[in-house]
Amino acid sequence: MSSDNVLLDSYFIDLFNQIQDIVVITNHCGVIVDANQAFCKLLGVEKKSVLGLPFSSFVPKNEQQELEKVNGLLEHNQSIRGKLSIVLSSKLTYFDYVSTLDALNGFTISVLREEKQVLLKQKEQYQYFFQEMFTEALDGIVFWDRNGIILNANSAATRIFESSFEELIGSCIGSFVSKQNEQDDKILQKLYETEAVRDEMFFSMPNGQEKLLEFSSKYHSADGFHMTIFRNISQRHQMEQELRKSEQKFRNIFEGSLEGLILWNDQGTIIDINHSACQLFKLNRNELIGKTLMELLPDYNKNHEELKSMMEILKENGKHHGTFSIYMSEESQFYCEFSSIHHLYADINFTVFKDITEKIEMESRLKKSDTLHVVGELAAGIAHEIRNPMTALKGFIQLLQGDMRDDQILYFQVILTELDRIDSIVNEFLILAKPQAVKYLQVDITRIMKETVELLTGQAVMYNVQFHTNYSDYLPHIYCEPNQLKKVFVNVIKNAIEVMHEGGKISIEIIRDNDKMICISIHDQGTGIPAERLKRLGEPFYTTKDRGTGLGLMVSYKIIEEHNGYIRVDSQEGIGTTFHIYLPILSEKE
Ligand code: ADP
Ligand code: MG
Repeated sequence: MSSDNVLLDSYFIDLFNQIQDIVVITNHCGVIVDANQAFCKLLGVEKKSVLGLPFSSFVPKNEQQELEKVNGLLEHNQSIRGKLSIVLSSKLTYFDYVSTLDALNGFTISVLREEKQVLLKQKEQYQYFFQEMFTEALDGIVFWDRNGIILNANSAATRIFESSFEELIGSCIGSFVSKQNEQDDKILQKLYETEAVRDEMFFSMPNGQEKLLEFSSKYHSADGFHMTIFRNISQRHQMEQELRKSEQKFRNIFEGSLEGLILWNDQGTIIDINHSACQLFKLNRNELIGKTLMELLPDYNKNHEELKSMMEILKENGKHHGTFSIYMSEESQFYCEFSSIHHLYADINFTVFKDITEKIEMESRLKKSDTLHVVGELAAGIAHEIRNPMTALKGFIQLLQGDMRDDQILYFQVILTELDRIDSIVNEFLILAKPQAVKYLQVDITRIMKETVELLTGQAVMYNVQFHTNYSDYLPHIYCEPNQLKKVFVNVIKNAIEVMHEGGKISIEIIRDNDKMICISIHDQGTGIPAERLKRLGEPFYTTKDRGTGLGLMVSYKIIEEHNGYIRVDSQEGIGTTFHIYLPILSEKE
């Protein structure tokens, strides 16, 4: 043995005996071969009395396994750490240990330290952590006693309460509460009386500031103090309120808009829809939300096709506007002007639309009346020019009648009827050109109609048509030009007779529509008019008859218009047509 080793040995022995930790050396059977002073002192026995005893005899039965585990593990590892309890004067004491195997001698050296020390250290550490947390926390932390007196507060709390630390300590927590309403009083009471509270409340700071604080408070009964953690949520609250306000603003605009507004997702499902849009579809909001646009429009005509192409263009361009014609049924069609934005937010698309059916109808009516006007002016000039030569022609032809050969009579008849036809066309033109002798009178419209029906009965019989009339009693008189109105009735009823090739019934009805209008309806059982042709009625020269002039309705529309009335036509192909002629009832004074 070298002198170095001797020195080391003596150091080791010193250390072994002086160290406060317990050191036990066991052999491969777990029998104690040596133990230090600390161990003997702990047990209160002489060293001799422990040597030769198995170490396991100091360990409670339920921890024997731990020991065996140590032995087993040590074969593979040089050292091992763990926790162990030892029976000391019939009391368990807990130790942390480190066991090391001296492979050369087969001895195990175990160093044990009472856990208390470890705990103490841990406690110190926790205290440190807590202190750090307390000072660094972003939330205000306040300790206060049963009387509400603040005992301690962190710097975040001083910031929240707009006070210095010195001002805060000793003041009463209750003095900060706004106590604006009963609700706050209740919360405060709960804060004082209940073990744990979590709530929010307005607090007023010494500088007059009002703050909404969210807090969670707990009473620690063992120490007799409350700990309350505060967070300033004024800004959040304000933001929430502003958000709510702007949401309300948006909702008011959305609901109040005269235009239809729809929010819909990429699948075409309606997310939100406003009042105006609901009115257009004649459904309420709940019925519409969740429905797809496709479901909303009947798959009639090109509705769906148009909708799909509209969606595609929108997706591509991000924006899209135009007009859209919607067929709700065969008869009801409306036109919309729309403007859409793709993905207004997230995957929500937005569409504004307006029903422009009336506008379009008005435009077409205006166009018609414009044409009527022009034709009227033209007619005035031409009609007069034609009339004079016509009179001469007719006179001379009649003169020739006497010298006619028998085989020429047929031609003669043709010439005469054609001349009559020209005459009637010219006459109709002249009505357009406002004949000079227009005399407006207050007249009984029923009487005019009765005269017209009488006039046409002859023609009706030829066509095997019967008239059914129904005139309301006490109809007010109408301010009108009776001859012109008669002309209108003749035109309409003649048309009705002409479309009933197999005969039938023509119903004529006059009723008071409302305070301002009376309505004359003429219903036939004729061929009917296809929807797309309805619009053309009243256009000059529009006729479907071989020998028609296409002037009858034009003149009629013009006359009714001059009477401040209007004509509406309902028709069903193969069933019949009804002409409704509306005329205003003027008050006596007018
Ligand atoms: P015309 O009788 O000379 O053809 P009108 O102006 O009187 O000219 O009528 C124009 C067209 O309107 C007619 O050719 C016809 O096609 C259509 N029409 C008018 N009234 C009816 C009706 N009651 N039923 C079906 N079609 C009608
Ligand atoms: Mg006609």
